[in-house]
Amino acid sequence: MKITDYLAQKKDETVISFEILPPLKGGSIQSIFDSLDPLMEFKPPFIDVTYHREEYDYKQRPGGYYEKTSIRKRPGTVGICAAIMNRYGVEAVPHLICGGFTIEETENALIDLSFLGINNVLALRGDARKLEGRFIPEPGGHNFAIDMVRQIEKMNKGEYLESAGQATDFCIGVAGYPEKHFEAPNMKLDMQFLKEKVDAGADYIVTQMFFDNQKYFDFVDLCREYDINVPIIPGLKPLTRKSQISRLPSIFYVNFPEELVEAVIKAKDKAAVKQVGIEWCIQQSKELKAKGVPCLHYYTMGDVNTFVKIGKEVF
Ligand code: FAD
Repeated sequence: MKITDYLAQKKDETVISFEILPPLKGGSIQSIFDSLDPLMEFKPPFIDVTYHREEYDYKQRPGGYYEKTSIRKRPGTVGICAAIMNRYGVEAVPHLICGGFTIEETENALIDLSFLGINNVLALRGDARKLEGRFIPEPGGHNFAIDMVRQIEKMNKGEYLESAGQATDFCIGVAGYPEKHFEAPNMKLDMQFLKEKVDAGADYIVTQMFFDNQKYFDFVDLCREYDINVPIIPGLKPLTRKSQISRLPSIFYVNFPEELVEAVIKAKDKAAVKQVGIEWCIQQSKELKAKGVPCLHYYTMGDVNTFVKIGKEVF
């Protein structure tokens, strides 16, 4: 079922969903099941599975020269999605990125998904490789997420790169940034680009994590001002370690409310920090749910027990 159809069906309810990471290379699908089994009591209608582009590294070889190597630590997104759908009977949403794919490879990946009955996809640009500093598209690949949205929309009309064919039936999610995407020169331009993604065919938006609900509420109001009327799913992550108060802003370009930072600094040990983060996330979730958001989407990053605690308090 399409995510948007599901949300429309449950329009007076807030549903829950989770985002998981593929295991590190060599890991087993059992580790995914072990993470998801305890979360299934909350009946998530869908699970997102992230996609990780290969990175480059330079390894020193005997003789002192450096060899450029390519590493992909977390492959397996599509296979994991198929396994999740098969085991739990819920929708799995693979993240598909522009980085590292030519448009032909993107088309082939989408054909594979369609064959597997995976009809929801989160279309993303992807970040820069760590050693490159700025996003460099694959030669013959897409520059921006909107280009992938347009490609999927064409396939939904039966228009493939080389010829016409059977129309696919993808529901397309895209990313939105309540605190602005870090590369956008200002919020106005970021909103214009988001509006273009939606006009090009995106069916719903999932937000970057935020720790102040007002940022989400303001973002939704702004989207509506820009005539962006698709569902906007808030993405949440609890803070679990003290180091994250400086690390998460540097990775995700998010701000922490003063009250949360003070509580984390005052916490006397690791367990107390985690408890502060969980309680904050529970309060955020309860407020968002009371305001009738369509879905609460949690970035699990493999930490199951935390989400069992949050789920039990909120749902
Ligand atoms: P875009 O929508 O293409 O936007 C990128 C930047 O370009 C923005 O600053 C935008 O304002 C600007 N822009 C857009 N269109 C144009 C245009 N036509 N001309 C000029 N500028 C333009 N990354 C992964 O690698 N794997 C994942 O699984 C993953 N999952 C994610 C899930 C969510 C919910 C979110 C919020 C992010 C996720 N990311 C993931 C990170 C994401 O790939 C990065 O944030 C990336 O930098 C931007 O992706 P995007 O799809 O928002 O890009």
